[in-house]
Amino acid sequence: MSDCIFCKIISGDIPATKVYEDAGFLAFLDIHPVSPGHTLVIPKQHYDRFETTPPEVVAELYKLLRSIAVSIAAGAGADAFNLGVNNGPAAGQVIFHTHVHVIPRKPKDGLESWGSRDYEGTEMDEVAKKIRAAIKQSAASRE
Ligand code: AMP
Ligand code: ZN
Repeated sequence: MSDCIFCKIISGDIPATKVYEDAGFLAFLDIHPVSPGHTLVIPKQHYDRFETTPPEVVAELYKLLRSIAVSIAAGAGADAFNLGVNNGPAAGQVIFHTHVHVIPRKPKDGLESWGSRDYEGTEMDEVAKKIRAAIKQSAASRE
């Protein structure tokens, strides 16, 4: 996609600090890191978000993450990391080219994870019921 920043990084039109590359995927440092070594892992093929990315590409992407995420953290001097996907504007996605954040974490690094809340009344059962129905409907539409 001509106006996609990550496609421009893949084509070499925009510079990036690459840490891994193969025929189908690229990993490079996030320009505004949450922690040192914060890396973005992307497929070279352009897909705008999680649900438009073919299942086999998602599978390959997570297989690659399984192989390099520990080393990304280790290279940053960490033995822990967060894997993150901001999917859709409400979730904070700003670059619409599928990517996974690998964020190296250290003990007491001062980073906070997202907050939590309590369910009220029957809310938990109700939302679970709706999620089950949505999964069932989506599975039926694939048959
Ligand atoms: P998001 O879409 O919210 O998952 O985040 C996109 C990420 O891309 C942000 O963390 C940005 O700092 C990062 N980013 C944007 N432009 C570049 C760039 N040219 N090189 C490296 N990282 C970038
Ligand atoms: Zn792209």
